[in-house]
Amino acid sequence: MPTDAPESTPTLTPKDAPAPFAPTGTDSFAHTRPSDFILRSSDGVDFHVHKDSLKFASDVFQDMFAVVAPNSAENDAEQLMRDGKPVLPQRVIYKLLCFAYPARSAGQVKVDVNDIDPDLVDVFRAAHKYQFVVLEEMLKNTMNEFAGLPSRAIADPYRIFAIGKLLGHRELAKAAILAATGRERPKMLNFPELRLLSWSEGEQIHQLTAEYKHKMHAALDAAANVSHLGTTELVWAWRQHSEPLKPSTCTFVEPGPSNPLSIPCAEWFLKHIEQLKAGALGLPYSQITTKECIQALSPSLRTTIASCFECARFTEREIQLFADHACAVLSKAHASLESEIDAVLS
Ligand SMILES: [Zn+2]
Repeated sequence: MPTDAPESTPTLTPKDAPAPFAPTGTDSFAHTRPSDFILRSSDGVDFHVHKDSLKFASDVFQDMFAVVAPNSAENDAEQLMRDGKPVLPQRVIYKLLCFAYPARSAGQVKVDVNDIDPDLVDVFRAAHKYQFVVLEEMLKNTMNEFAGLPSRAIADPYRIFAIGKLLGHRELAKAAILAATGRERPKMLNFPELRLLSWSEGEQIHQLTAEYKHKMHAALDAAANVSHLGTTELVWAWRQHSEPLKPSTCTFVEPGPSNPLSIPCAEWFLKHIEQLKAGALGLPYSQITTKECIQALSPSLRTTIASCFECARFTEREIQLFADHACAVLSKAHASLESEIDAVLS
């Protein structure tokens, strides 16, 4: 009598686990590979499994079967504990076994960063406790892969941070913090791991993302305040032509209908810095995208620049040089912030 789904309520009479760990049914192992062991969950569900598979997957089971002489009566409803109390609920055992058995479909072992199983932390902990060494290694590798993803690939950095903290995976927690720097702080958090995290652990991501944003914006301001570059004495046209001796003005155009306003050339540049800080910079810093973001001027700023003879001539080249300069400053700030995050997380 297999149940329909992995979820069930605790009962006194043991029930059979869903396929493929049911004792009968076409999609169980019954007709091709009959089971030789029953594993009972803490909520009274019997999993019909194979000693050889458990021994292969788990060092704990390998030892257990080496010590306990095989005896069909004793082995019935053997529980996944040594102190006599079953600790793992059905849903965790089910997922643990699904991962541990040889994959029967590609989806069985795939873990997607934006579709993580709500029991992943429990499964990972159980894999560690019962020494499902291959599975534990596989899950660790998956976490390593997640930690190496570009920030924009992580849809819910707050959940990924929680998982990184709970599993003691520092690089994953750090990747999540960096990913969160490019997002608005959510008004409410709601994910399965939230209840497992302490208040102070949860606060870390808020504090560190705020700190990161603040210091990166300060670094951008510092870069923008440089009036000319290096020994070549390149002076930004947008600054130079705003000086009283060499007057030149842009016609500032705000998005939407407005009366064009004559402004000192440097003002569109300051507006650009403001827009970068408001989100256009695309935090966290990235060697690949940050320079493009700094060079990308909004359409209304482009109209302003085109209205001025001096700015129209020089801006294209100068904004490239400025982006190079700003990226060097931001890259340094990012590296030092990464060390700060490491120090807090370790
Ligand atoms: Zn101008």
